[in-house]
Amino acid sequence: MAYLDKKHNNIRIVMINTSHPGNIGAAARVMKNMGLTRLYLVNPKQFPNYEATAMASGADDLLSQATVCSSFEEALEGCRLVLGTTARERKIQHEFIDAREAGGLSVCESAQHEVALVFGRERTGLTNDEIGLCHKLINIPTNPDYSSLNVASAVQIVTYEVMMAFQMGQVQTTLKPEESTEYASSEDIERFYEHLQQTLIDIDFLRIKQSPQLMPKLRHVYNRIRLKQEELNILRGILNKTQKLKE
Ligand code: SAH
Repeated sequence: MAYLDKKHNNIRIVMINTSHPGNIGAAARVMKNMGLTRLYLVNPKQFPNYEATAMASGADDLLSQATVCSSFEEALEGCRLVLGTTARERKIQHEFIDAREAGGLSVCESAQHEVALVFGRERTGLTNDEIGLCHKLINIPTNPDYSSLNVASAVQIVTYEVMMAFQMGQVQTTLKPEESTEYASSEDIERFYEHLQQTLIDIDFLRIKQSPQLMPKLRHVYNRIRLKQEELNILRGILNKTQKLKE
């Protein structure tokens, strides 16, 4: 894309478990309109598919380059900012931003690292576990009595804001270059959660069946902080020591 330099190509669109291939094609089309090229599909129900190609209408190059993943974690590899989208605002305890802020944040941070914008299933959206992997959630304001947008329309609105942020020259970054690489990657954060969960089980603090909400709540705490690599290393060191004491 001529108007998006290579750095802004660090923004990927992740669609999870999409049922209707037409929605994948429509999303590819609006992405290309808005200058984004990297589409990640997590377990799409039908892909490749003629309906996707038909709806992409000239953006089928994005479909042939799309990365098909078998897990959400795989689609987030290398990302240091993960923004999920959801129509359900009130029930979820998480930090919410609007699409405009998300556009600005994505453009700013993509100058330095990989950013994922995540879109859920047509009927049920994102699961709580998937939300647990997002740093912030984006809600597009809608009629409260009819709040759920078609997923490709949601992609349209968010990617439009990315384009606007880019055009408005919001490229001056909010991060100092040295700060950027300090953020822990999604993979390392995931390994930390696994380690934390195992340690809490080892010290008899957690019984998953009795307290299914504990890990989602702890994820929420750490996601709010947005851990840096050095902080993550300290926490993992504490977990290692704690596990040794229990041996
Ligand atoms: N009941 C689901 C609706 C799914 S709509 C939910 O509460 O999320 C399919 C997808 O479109 C959602 O997962 C989300 O990615 C996007 N979407 C739909 N409406 C949205 C809105 N108002 N704000 C943000 N994303 C929205």
